[in-house]
Amino acid sequence: MSQPFQKVAVIGAGTMGNGIAQTFATYGCEVALIDTFPAGLERGVMTIAKSLAKFVEKEKLTATERDAVLARIRASGKLEDAASAQLVVEAVPEKIELKREIFTALDRITRPECVLSTNTSSISITEIAAATKRSSKVIGMHFMNPVPLMKLVEVIRGQDTDEATTQAVLASSRALGKEPVVVADYPGFISNRVLMPMINEAIFALMEGVADAEGIDTVMKLGMNHPMGPLTLADFIGLDVCLNILEVLQEGFGDPRYRPCPLLRRMVAAGHLGRKTGRGFYQY
Ligand code: NAD
Repeated sequence: MSQPFQKVAVIGAGTMGNGIAQTFATYGCEVALIDTFPAGLERGVMTIAKSLAKFVEKEKLTATERDAVLARIRASGKLEDAASAQLVVEAVPEKIELKREIFTALDRITRPECVLSTNTSSISITEIAAATKRSSKVIGMHFMNPVPLMKLVEVIRGQDTDEATTQAVLASSRALGKEPVVVADYPGFISNRVLMPMINEAIFALMEGVADAEGIDTVMKLGMNHPMGPLTLADFIGLDVCLNILEVLQEGFGDPRYRPCPLLRRMVAAGHLGRKTGRGFYQY
């Protein structure tokens, strides 16, 4: 499967951005990894080096291949370094104003034929596209964490996304060894629309004392064959992220069935955000 985009820019070197950059570089693309925060950029590059070292340890890459992958990644602190990209994947924090600002800038910086994609988990692709003058070339490319290992890419078509852009992004995803699924631009797309109500319901069950956290997770693991229970998964994703996505679903559909569980709100207010803060439904 040939890769339609040889030159890729990834904006944001955090959890998702560094994994996306690593994946494109592993499959032969030249990648500009751009993060305006020096600490963020440094952390991103270090994470890639560590991840590639594990691939070498497991004999999935040779040391020479690892060096070639690293050599294809150019770290930068300037958005202007996206200028020669054929595809941009934006992975900055989940804030609509920030994303719109970056897309307006990318629209100015990149060539008119460049495809602009976003890794957003929940923001409308159509609203992000409206910040550019090329809404037909704006699309969602929703990778899953950890990107180098997870097979799925949700490809989200905005209101104006054209067929050529969709087909190129599908081909690009397949060339990365991923399995893309095309979805329409509705709140939460498919992944979070189906996942988050399940996590929310698990939190309601915990709040009501139906079972303890281990019990709820065990039912879903052993009974439904889920590799991870919903509360463990919520801790992994981040409870603040879960709350934010539920709010997007509730507002986007105007339907109270997506109302976030009060226990989830309380845990976020207390700063117990899951793995990243050492405490969520479990202690880490
Ligand atoms: P993160 O906080 O780990 O990383 C964001 C990075 O963006 C940071 O390194 C930060 O320094 C950088 N950044 C901030 N402002 C910037 C700017 N103006 N220009 C360039 N870089 C900037 O976030 P993340 O978890 O990687 O999430 C990124 C996106 O991916 C979000 O839209 C999120 O919803 C989505 N997403 C996250 C996950 C997940 O599991 N974490 C999964 C799927 C999608």
